[in-house]
Amino acid sequence: MNSKAVAAVAPNGLSATASEPVGPDTEQDIDLLLAFLNTTDAETGTDVLRDPEQWRLWCLEHTGQASVDTTAAREIRDLMRMSISCDPVAPDTTPHGTAQWPVHVRLEDGVPVTSGTDALGVVLAAASRIVITGRWHRIKICPATNCLWAFYDRSRNRSRTWCSMRVCGNREKARSWRERHTAH
Ligand SMILES: [Zn+2]
Repeated sequence: MNSKAVAAVAPNGLSATASEPVGPDTEQDIDLLLAFLNTTDAETGTDVLRDPEQWRLWCLEHTGQASVDTTAAREIRDLMRMSISCDPVAPDTTPHGTAQWPVHVRLEDGVPVTSGTDALGVVLAAASRIVITGRWHRIKICPATNCLWAFYDRSRNRSRTWCSMRVCGNREKARSWRERHTAH
């Protein structure tokens, strides 16, 4: 399919655009990374990483790999969330810049393929593929303080701010409307 045809079937910016083809592997990576970033939920005040048993099950379900300790996982998750949004992360966390995790690269039919050897490695391998394919800047965090949900911005010009215009976008619109109309 040529690039014009691709653009023509995706006029609403919801599917892959001509310049940003998103294949099934990439979708999997995005889903996994978002699930990891959203292990903390500001709306319900829950955090999978506060409970080793929940985290163990999460790892099995999402990566098929053994879990790693929750402290390392939380540090990496919160660093990534900070880098995406500068949102105020959990108060018990003091991110200090860098975290390292072994991600393996092997050759498959001569093509370098990244993979992880444990759950966090699998997540980080997916995240690094998202960086390498130039999509990291489309990973965003909803700025509504009671939401902070991580999402993937599929809009053509990367203009999406809210996780959902229907929920957070409208809530914010209603709030600023009220503020404008009470000020005058
Ligand atoms: Zn939101």
